[in-house]
Amino acid sequence: MVDSTGSRVADVLVRGEVIVSVEPSTRTGTRAGTGTGPSGAPAGAMVLDAGGCVVAPGLVDLHAHLREPGAEEAETIESGSRAAALGGYTAVVAMPNTEPCTDSAAVVRHVLHLAKGACCDVHPAGAITVGRQGRALAPMAEMVALGVRIFTDDGAGVQDAALMRRALEYASDLGAIIADHCEEASLAGLGCMNEGDLSSLLGLPGRPAVSEEVMVLRDLALARLTGARLHLLHLSTAGAVAAVRLAKAAGTNVTAEATPHHLALTEDALATYDTVFKVNPPLRSAADVAALRQGLCDGTIDAVATDHAPHPPEAKQVAFCDAAPGMIGLETSLAVVLGALVGADGPGLGDGEPGMTIERVLALMSWQPARIAGLSGAHGGPLVPGAPANLCVIDPARSWTVVPAALASHSRNTPFAGLALRGKVRHTVLAGEPVVIAEEAQR
Ligand SMILES: [Zn+2]
Repeated sequence: MVDSTGSRVADVLVRGEVIVSVEPSTRTGTRAGTGTGPSGAPAGAMVLDAGGCVVAPGLVDLHAHLREPGAEEAETIESGSRAAALGGYTAVVAMPNTEPCTDSAAVVRHVLHLAKGACCDVHPAGAITVGRQGRALAPMAEMVALGVRIFTDDGAGVQDAALMRRALEYASDLGAIIADHCEEASLAGLGCMNEGDLSSLLGLPGRPAVSEEVMVLRDLALARLTGARLHLLHLSTAGAVAAVRLAKAAGTNVTAEATPHHLALTEDALATYDTVFKVNPPLRSAADVAALRQGLCDGTIDAVATDHAPHPPEAKQVAFCDAAPGMIGLETSLAVVLGALVGADGPGLGDGEPGMTIERVLALMSWQPARIAGLSGAHGGPLVPGAPANLCVIDPARSWTVVPAALASHSRNTPFAGLALRGKVRHTVLAGEPVVIAEEAQR
């Protein structure tokens, strides 16, 4: 068992929705089949075999596009939450760029209604501005009253600095967080990949690193001015990591995330013009990837979030510049991050970072994002009697190959198709109920 308090060998007993006991394991190294429990398990208890596995608090994703309402051909809350559970997540924050946009209590209520019975807890984020148009603040208070904690116009940055300042002040008064998609639009322009030698060579318009850095620097200054809590989504550049490092050292109230794809892939993947690798912010240089990994190792970046962005084939099977940006990631994230940070067999993922362990990866993917999202009461907490039973069981040695058609997501746009990965979620338990058993979804 691994949680924020450390690691130990133990058996976990769950009754109803909570953990009722955590006892030193009497059967270390042995395997018990379902229904034939270790000694000490109550008669009739279902036994989930965790032999050779890590039992941890369920993962928490700060950044998933579940596409419902409005783009159900790409994903639904049902299919997206099933993908999340298979990836070890017990909670995801659903981005508000739905149709209609999640910018009012009515739409928040609708998403919460759709999420009943989902395979993980779904927490809708609200839009910062009405319709994510960047013109007028959305009615945040009525959404906060329904439990919304994170506000974002993700998909685009808030271009108007004065509006962003007001959003930070307003959110701060409501105890909410502004989650910032950092791209300055006039600099990003119509670019569809990282700006550099490779974009010149490929003849594709570039999206420069400075478009991210300018907005990161602007909003760090606004966070300092207002004292508001700022969360920076999907950092992709070395310059942004350096800026956040300095801001944290100066006491700015900021957290940041990076995605698995920005840790594992570089712009070189675009040499084939395969639109599956098109994403915003774009895949960057090897130096940027190294800076992101360093930022995760030294605490500059607080969380790994998927930016799971499903798209139907017709949105990707078009000319590169016309293709929709984004890639799916809920089912591959843990293995990709283990490969990138801890080191694994996967081709192209490297040898990992010195000092990185599965324990530290779980901090980045479970309890730290749970704290940022304000979910620590239910997710990511220490595994102790009385705690909600939101758990995942990870087999770190399990090798598997990413087969897009076998994924639970409605969409197939994974950049890791055919890649051999190591590390897979064996079971996921949501509020005491096993929603994934032996790598199979139960709902
Ligand atoms: Zn974004």
